[in-house]
Amino acid sequence: MPLSPDQLAEIAAQRATPKPTLRAVSEGMEAHLYHAHEVLDHGFVRVIDYMGDDAAIVQAARVSYGAGTKHVSNDEGLIRYLMRHWHSTPFEMCEIKLHVKLPVFVARQWIRHRTANVNEYSARYSILDREFYIPAPDQLAAQSVVNNQGRGAVLEGAEAARVLEMLKRDSNTAYDHYEAMLSETQADGSPQQGLARELARMNLPANIYTQWYWKVDLHNLFHFLRLRADPHAQYEIRVYADVICKVVADWVPIAFAAFEDYRMGGATLSSKAIDCVRRMLKGEQVTQETSGMSKGEWREFIGVVNDPA
Ligand SMILES: Cc1cc2nc3c(=O)[nH]c(=O)nc-3n(C[C@H](O)[C@H](O)[C@H](O)COP(=O)(O)OP(=O)(O)OC[C@H]3O[C@@H](n4cnc5c(N)ncnc54)[C@H](O)[C@@H]3O)c2cc1C
Repeated sequence: MPLSPDQLAEIAAQRATPKPTLRAVSEGMEAHLYHAHEVLDHGFVRVIDYMGDDAAIVQAARVSYGAGTKHVSNDEGLIRYLMRHWHSTPFEMCEIKLHVKLPVFVARQWIRHRTANVNEYSARYSILDREFYIPAPDQLAAQSVVNNQGRGAVLEGAEAARVLEMLKRDSNTAYDHYEAMLSETQADGSPQQGLARELARMNLPANIYTQWYWKVDLHNLFHFLRLRADPHAQYEIRVYADVICKVVADWVPIAFAAFEDYRMGGATLSSKAIDCVRRMLKGEQVTQETSGMSKGEWREFIGVVNDPA
């Protein structure tokens, strides 16, 4: 379980003491505040704080005094215009602060997004818990033969059992040694000094969980979600991004719908690709050889213009 009974009680207490405010409030987001959305086997995402709503984006774009919107349809049109034309700063006026618990190897991918503010749990100061990410059986996949950064078929039977056993045993052995190094008592009961926490942690594997507070503005959050809620992203970070997508959809529903339309569901076409589309519309049989595109570009272009059904 990702949260202890004490932590759950703390969250319930936080939610039980609402405070009046003159600030913009997103009803959808209020329902998420402080709740922990469980991810993977021990992880979670929870909203600690946020600033702004759909109206704040509109208000910033118009540099207006009002709290937003007289006509929702006008605001929706403006937000879609801003998204379509890459006007990013109005989206930067909204912010979100998350508390995330995640395996260290996921954190290494996540921290590459430099446009956030981060505070991580200190393993120099505190002792880490014995919590390791062990994939669910349906995620225990073989190396893909077509994609060096991807997964192939799910392992089954004895092979799956062997891998799971190794993951669990290695994690527990590393943690046993971590505890033994920290301990001020030797195995025979005699006293020892114990190794510093900042050194003892170095034998812990990358599937141990860490935690951080992560604050980011909506523009950069959309960029993060575009890359990490995408099928090309590794499953273990994608599941976090998917949860955050749901939270953002409740927080700023108009902006999120525009993001889904233009960024998640949309595609960027090069001038060569646009030229091909125009030639195809005129009835020409365009091929990769006559398109002027490389094989990779052509494959991606066909993936965009072909109806998957
Ligand atoms: C599927 C996938 C596979 C990946 N594989 C690898 C890999 O094999 N190896 C690897 O090292 N990384 C890999 N990455 C990480 C990737 O290269 C980026 O580092 C990461 O996605 C962060 O993107 P970003 O820099 O755009 O984001 P952010 O750091 O959030 O930055 C957002 C934007 O701000 C601007 N910006 C931020 N900082 C600067 C700066 N200092 N100078 C100029 N502009 C700045 C840029 O426009 C940037 O796009 C992978 C990412 C994905 C999604």
